This record gives sequence, C-alpha cells and structure tokens, in this order.
Amino acid sequence: MNVQVKNGTQHIESLRDERVIYVGGKIVHDVTTDPAFRNSVKSSARLYDLQADPDYIVALTFKSPTSGGQVSRAWQIPKNYDETVTRRKALVTWAETHCGFMGRSPDHLASALSGQYVGMDRWEAYDPKFAKNFSDYFHYARDNDLFLTYVIINPQIDRSKEASEQQDEDVIMRVVDEDSEGLTVRGAKMMGTSSVMANEVFVANLQPLRPNEEKYAVSFAVPMNIKGLKILSRKSFEASAESEFDNPLSSRYDENDAVIYFDDVKVPWERVFVNQNVDMARGQFHDTPGHIYQNYQAQIRLMVKLKFLAGLAKKTAEIIGTIKLPPVQGMLGKLASDAAAVEAFVYGMEASGEEVNGAWIPNKHLLYSAQVFTQELYAGFVNSVRELAGGALIMLPSSVNDYSIEDAAKIIDKTQSASVGTPRDRVKFFKMAWDALGSEFASRHAHYEAFYAGAQFVTRGNSFRTYGWDSATDLVDQQLSSYTLEGSLSMNKKGV
Ligand SMILES: Cc1cc2nc3c(=O)[nH]c(=O)nc-3n(C[C@H](O)[C@H](O)[C@H](O)COP(=O)(O)OP(=O)(O)OC[C@H]3O[C@@H](n4cnc5c(N)ncnc54)[C@H](O)[C@@H]3O)c2cc1C
Repeated sequence: MNVQVKNGTQHIESLRDERVIYVGGKIVHDVTTDPAFRNSVKSSARLYDLQADPDYIVALTFKSPTSGGQVSRAWQIPKNYDETVTRRKALVTWAETHCGFMGRSPDHLASALSGQYVGMDRWEAYDPKFAKNFSDYFHYARDNDLFLTYVIINPQIDRSKEASEQQDEDVIMRVVDEDSEGLTVRGAKMMGTSSVMANEVFVANLQPLRPNEEKYAVSFAVPMNIKGLKILSRKSFEASAESEFDNPLSSRYDENDAVIYFDDVKVPWERVFVNQNVDMARGQFHDTPGHIYQNYQAQIRLMVKLKFLAGLAKKTAEIIGTIKLPPVQGMLGKLASDAAAVEAFVYGMEASGEEVNGAWIPNKHLLYSAQVFTQELYAGFVNSVRELAGGALIMLPSSVNDYSIEDAAKIIDKTQSASVGTPRDRVKFFKMAWDALGSEFASRHAHYEAFYAGAQFVTRGNSFRTYGWDSATDLVDQQLSSYTLEGSLSMNKKGV
C-alpha cells in the first residue's frame, strides 16, 4: 500500500517541543536526546515505524472516517466481533515489540477516548457545546494519530480527607479562574505514565467527588509543552541502566511515571470537555464504554506480557537443566494455565460483548473479573519464575565491562556454563530475566500491575457492581423452592 502513515521519525520530531521535565536535579527540554528518556522514546517511535512498514500497514492501520488518512487501528471503533478481533491482533503486534512492558503505549488512550466517543449520546445529554469540544478533539487526535497520556487520579496526600479538605488548596488540581478564553487550573495530578513521550495529556477525574467539589470535576486536553505544565519525573531506570546487555528492558522500555503539575495553566474553551460537573466527571468513564475500553486494552497488553514471562520461565528451566523434573514441569504447567487464563478472559470478553451505539463493546463483567484476577496474579506469577531460577538470577557478572578483563572473562565463561547454549548466552538470558523479575524496573512493574487500574477495593467494587447477581441468586432460589419445611416434616412422619 502506498499511503502516508505516521512513522517513528515523525513521532520523535513531534516531541522536540520544549516541554519542561524535572529529573535527576536538572530540567530536560528534549526527551529525544536525554539519557533519562531517549531509548524509551525510540521504543515508542518503533511502534509508529512498524505501522508505517508496508508489510504491516494493513494489519496495523485503518482509514480514519474523518480525514480519510491511514491511522493506527487503536483508533478504530469496531462495529462487530470480527472487527474487534482484527483490532486486537494489531494491539498484540504492537505489544509484542516491548513484550507488554509499555503500559501506556499510544493504544491505551486511543482506546479510552474511542470508548468515550461511543457514548456521544451521554456527552450530548450533558451539554452539546462540551460534547462538540470532545468530539472535535477525538477527531483531531485520531486524524493526527497522536500519542496521548492521561492523568485521572489525584495525588494521595491525606486519604482521610476529601479533595476539598486538604490543607494546601493548591495541591490537587482544580479550577482557579474562568474567563472568556477558558479555564485556569492549578495543582497536581498523578500519575502521568508515558507523559515524557506523549504529545498531549488528557485530564479528568475518575475518583468519586462530593457535590461541593465541582472545581475538581473538569476534563480537558492540552499539549505537553503548554505554558505552566511541569512534568516531575520519577527516577529514570533508563538513566541508571548499566548497558543494554545488563538491563535490556529498563534501558529501552522505561515508559516513565510522573507527577503533572499545572502551574496556572490556561486551558482554551475548545479544549474543555467537562466543566466543573461532578456527575459528568464520573459519567465520561462509566456512562460511556470509556472505562471498559481503556481497561480492555490493558488486558490485551498484559496477556502478551504474561506470555513473555512464561517464556522466561521455560527457558530458565532449560538453561539450568531442571526442565525434566516433575515439580518443575508442574510449576511451568501452572504458569502456562495462568497465562492462558488471561488470554481466555480477553477472548471471552470479546465473544460475549454487546453492541452499544453501533460499536462492539467487550463484556463488562468479564473485563472487571480479569482485572481482579490479574491484579492479584502478577506478583505471584513473577515470584514463581524467580523460584524456578534460584541463584542464577544473582550469580551474574556485575557488568558487561567485566568481559573486558581477560582473567575475569575466563572465570565468568567457566562458571556460567549451562545445560543449553554457551556461557555468554546464559549470562545474556539471566541479565534479561533479572531485569524482568528482580530489578527496580521489575519492582515498578509489580506495582504498576497492582495499581494502574485502581487499588483492589476499587477493582473488586467494579466486579461486585457488574456481576449478574440475579441469575446467581435465582439458582439458589430455584433450589430453595424445590422443597419445604412442611414437606420434609410430613415425609419424616411417614418414615420416608
Ligand atoms: C506505576 C503506576 C502508574 C500509574 N499510571 C497512571 C496513569 O498513567 N494515569 C493516572 O491517572 N494514574 C496512574 N496511576 C495512579 C493509579 O491509578 C493509582 O495509584 C490508583 O488508582 C490507586 O490510587 P492511589 O495510589 O491513590 O492509592 P489509594 O487509593 O490511596 O489506595 C492505597 C491503599 O490504601 C488503602 N485504601 C485507600 N482507600 C481505601 C478505601 N476507601 N477502602 C479500602 N482501602 C483503602 C488500600 O489498601 C489501598 O491499596 C499509576 C500508578 C502507578 C503505581
């Protein structure tokens, strides 16, 4: 196909916009060259290069209904089950490039906004003017194939107090002024994962607010370089990675997490989607398929990641020569079944989905069940792979540079022999395994999988609210109505 598709070079160029990032005691304006971010930026660019590759254009892109241009399938709103599967396969291909380690890859927000867009009737019912702003923005983001991130949670501060009760009024982002041009917002939101490499940030409020907390109930989108927007990065694992050989994952897929501080940012009216309305702040996620669709993408990504971790487990057992031991095979069988269970959730939620406003939306309760299941699964899954590896994960040269000392290289090669492969293959493999299972990057991933969709009480609450309880309790009632106390008494009297 000879068509124009956004590629990696264009994505990298779009990030040279003088955004403001605080990291490691300095201010970074160009993420494409800074050692804290440049490799991860390249990994995100690779997604666009892949979709622009003539061999992948059909699989990974589709024609935008508004511009007629070819854009990522992540923006496609499937009309039926078959289109859903085609779209999912595109998302899997993208996730396989980073083995699921980039949680907020561009398909996450494309999914979130597509889901909210399916619910345009809810937007219209809220306010036609803001509905138009949202729909115009959706078209703009889709037609330009933008990489968006979002901040929809407020900083923790003091959880015993509501947003409006916090001591420092300027800490949680709120509206501080409103004029003919737009809103002025001040304060922080967490956590802008991938914000360092995104084009724009979508801002909203997912957590419950009280009726008097309207000033926190806003939704809008702004470019990352808008005046007053400050990105406070966490420690960069990429910057502290020893080398690509020592830290192949953290050196390349550290998508970053950051507090986003709005230092009196002026949001033009055309970019405001929800203006100080508590009900619509919640409704944009839960009265549209937005929340379902963003988390459906997350499960697709996670199923790729678990497959990768299962692969690590199998290769670990082969390399250290334990693969034939029945308990090891048992452990591998358990890991395989857990990884397959997540796949089954994805396929099941697609197959049992429903049509909403002409779009095919995955089954809500199966999605929330998958979230509860995987949130608890991940840390244990990783631990089981560690269990299979034993000391192999630790008995490793301190750095690739140790190979430059002749005597050390000889001893490393002698002590790293393996059941399969060369000693250097073994070191290469276990360096990657440690990065996935035990490094600081790995630990952040355990935290990510536990919290990206909310704490356990939140995901379990969603499951509680969406299960088909009636059909469950009907079964119980059906049994209860098949016998009576009186009937049993009279049968007993007759000696039956
Ligand atoms: C790595 C990472 C990446 C993230 N990326 C993003 C992102 O891209 N965009 C974004 O908007 N957000 C992001 N987040 C934020 C994430 O959505 C929140 O961490 C999550 O919603 C939980 O909120 P919290 O951290 O404030 O924890 P809290 O809600 O404060 O919960 C912490 C713990 O306190 C207890 N607790 C608190 N309240 C209750 C209650 N009412 N009932 C029972 N127990 C309670 C529970 O033990 C709970 O686990 C990210 C978080 C992490 C860790």
